[in-house]
Amino acid sequence: MEARRALVVGAGFGGIAMCLRLKRLGYQVTVLDNNPKAGGRAQVYELDKYKFDGGPTVITAPFLFDELFELFGKKRSDYVEFLPVEPWYRFEFADGSRLDYGGTLEDTITEINRLSPGEGGGYERLVAFSKRIFSVGFDKLADQPFHRFVTMLAQVPALLALKSYLSVYSLVGKFLKDDRLRRAFSIHPLLVGGNPMQTTSIYCLIHYLERKWGVWFPKGGTGALVQALVKLMHEVGVTLELNRQVSKVMVEGKKAVGIQLENGEERLADLVVFDADPPKVYRDLIDARHRSKWTNRRLKRLSFSMGLFVWYFGTSRRYPDVEHHTIIMGKVFKELLEDIYDRKILSDDLSLYLHRPAASDSSMAPEGGDAFYVLAPVPNKLAKVDWVKAGERIRLQVQKQLEDTLLPGLGDCLEVSHFVTPDDFESKFNTLWGSGFSIAPLFRQSAWFRFHNQSEELENLYFCGAGTHPGAGVPGVVSSARVVEKLVPPARVGDEDAFQKIFRSKSRTFSLASLLLPKERAEAIFRLYYICRTLDDWADEGHGEKLREASQCWSEHRPHELLDHYRFLQARWGLGSLPLTELMDAMLREQEGVRIKSEEELLEYCHGVAGTIGLMTCPIFGVTEPDALQHADDLGIAMQLTNICRDVREDAENDRIYLPADFFTTSPSVSDLLSKDSKWIEETVLVKRRLLSLAEERYASGEAGIRYLPFRMRIVVRWAGRMYREIGELIRDDPTGYHSERAVVKSGKKLRILLPSLGRAFLPR
Ligand SMILES: Cc1cc2nc3c(=O)[nH]c(=O)nc-3n(C[C@H](O)[C@H](O)[C@H](O)COP(=O)(O)OP(=O)(O)OC[C@H]3O[C@@H](n4cnc5c(N)ncnc54)[C@H](O)[C@@H]3O)c2cc1C
Repeated sequence: MEARRALVVGAGFGGIAMCLRLKRLGYQVTVLDNNPKAGGRAQVYELDKYKFDGGPTVITAPFLFDELFELFGKKRSDYVEFLPVEPWYRFEFADGSRLDYGGTLEDTITEINRLSPGEGGGYERLVAFSKRIFSVGFDKLADQPFHRFVTMLAQVPALLALKSYLSVYSLVGKFLKDDRLRRAFSIHPLLVGGNPMQTTSIYCLIHYLERKWGVWFPKGGTGALVQALVKLMHEVGVTLELNRQVSKVMVEGKKAVGIQLENGEERLADLVVFDADPPKVYRDLIDARHRSKWTNRRLKRLSFSMGLFVWYFGTSRRYPDVEHHTIIMGKVFKELLEDIYDRKILSDDLSLYLHRPAASDSSMAPEGGDAFYVLAPVPNKLAKVDWVKAGERIRLQVQKQLEDTLLPGLGDCLEVSHFVTPDDFESKFNTLWGSGFSIAPLFRQSAWFRFHNQSEELENLYFCGAGTHPGAGVPGVVSSARVVEKLVPPARVGDEDAFQKIFRSKSRTFSLASLLLPKERAEAIFRLYYICRTLDDWADEGHGEKLREASQCWSEHRPHELLDHYRFLQARWGLGSLPLTELMDAMLREQEGVRIKSEEELLEYCHGVAGTIGLMTCPIFGVTEPDALQHADDLGIAMQLTNICRDVREDAENDRIYLPADFFTTSPSVSDLLSKDSKWIEETVLVKRRLLSLAEERYASGEAGIRYLPFRMRIVVRWAGRMYREIGELIRDDPTGYHSERAVVKSGKKLRILLPSLGRAFLPR
């Protein structure tokens, strides 16, 4: 089987993480980027003897990078060292006061109490609340695909309980009173492009993220981290092509089949992932006739993140008192945010972020000198600012503000200077309206409402990076690649004919029923059958080690020859991950011999090995309603209960007793069940009747769920249910027969069951 080809457009942190994950899945991967260096916004600018990280400087959640190296059995620390930063940030307020934020919780509480006596307790409560937000927003949702609305709906109660309807500033205000503290602890949305007054309080999770893993700086700068990842990409065989501007997505029917470069060159691929600004990709790279959701009109209604003015400068002297990350608050806060986001004008009173990397790593500045960048949030290009004229004026305004505060004498020791404005973000990074962070992180533009990681418009088209779920910022974009990893089909496709042959030879009855299914759905069912059947064979034939390996690969998102077929079905039909996890868990538990104790345990087992298959089948039949899923689960459980009644003897011979011990007067042993002793036979008959009654309730539920199915699927599912019920009837009629032969439905009877199923399929939904 040949490996499928993947193209990743954009070598930002999202694109880099993406290409490594695709490579690990077995794809042949090429990354294309229009810039001369990898890293996207993390470009490195070299001016004379000075070197500047152009973008991200605050590295949080370092484990996300460790993971990328571990995908290939390597250690991140062998490639790049992470230095702890202390304090994480220093806040300089307009009234001359300051706050050092970072270190232990106690350190921060002491600092807060020094600045505003008695507020330490409020801060502690804010941390506790942000921990709750984190455990939902990061732990559960950051790498969860949100391309289905049901996923969003399922999260609504938790999001409301966490007050996600409040803005970050309002939530912080509930815990802290001092306005300086409120401002300082509300800045996190600005790190991902949002207005703290409007951004959903879910973004307070960044607060806890910093507290949990600290703030780090790669030795040699963020550029050294990019280079470490590029080295890894080369080692594992990812092709990186720089200075390549992608100008078009090639489409056939409803599928993305490749890209076209600006010079007209075409590159075909089995899938294309954009680590680029999604609104720009939809608007300018995909012909309007292929877009029904992301029309130009709709794209115009989006809210974009702010623009950035960033000035990089080197000085001939050092400023040793300046910390690594300093936030210089202007006199006004709310008004500045209104200027940026609402009035869209340049403010006279700016708040600044000053980066002095030599504070953590002296190699970041030449001997005796210092290297800085200073960043001012400004309106994006929806504002009517002529940056060609305004750029130098703002630079002088910023220089004056720095001279008056932290960098006295700056003008006299400037050696090199370069600045970028929203114009550069637009032209260098292909970003709509020159925004710093793609669309703004508002509630109405988050999770399901954000650009989906799997395109709604075209098959084989995916998005990672700042504009998609979970959002901007380095941890966000690296996590977005984890999301896409869960959505793409496996790198190797498999042989449809072979799956069909296996299905037809092993399940003659259902192969007849499958003739009623549309071709594509039937093929998906054959593939699903192949996966579940193979797992089942491993479980039955004592290949516990194969099952364990599969389960481990699955939980660690590693490629696996068999389970990659399930990933393929997930990408095409949206099958959930949990049913497969539960199926393998249940099979693994069976490996050690089975003694079911109670009805509850039995039903849990039946859900694990059979209800789950009902759940996997639903999306292939086009059914996603939660109620319908419950019926499908019930039908699977009913069938398994029937199987258990049919196979008591075979199971006992394999040291498995599924009949619940507490249904008997005393727990039966294997030899009790295999014996011809009338006491045991009579008891077993009663227990089986009880199980068949349990099954009957669930068949009724399964039957009720059939109304959710499209027409032809109704026939197939009703027939399958009826066939199993018939087996139940045979057992009821001859409950002791299990000692001699298996209950089998004769061919004539099968047809007699099919005919009424055909008729009832016409019932309305
Ligand atoms: C100045 C600044 C400071 C920041 N500081 C921090 C920080 O300290 N910590 C933090 O976590 N986050 C920070 N961020 C945010 C963070 O850097 C970004 O959200 C993140 O790096 C974006 O990564 P990405 O993978 O989405 O894409 P990008 O970095 O935007 O990379 C995408 C790449 O794709 C290329 N591309 C786009 N379209 C095409 C095309 N058609 N053809 C070819 N190539 C194309 C772009 O040119 C770019 O090179 C900062 C951002 C900026 C701008």
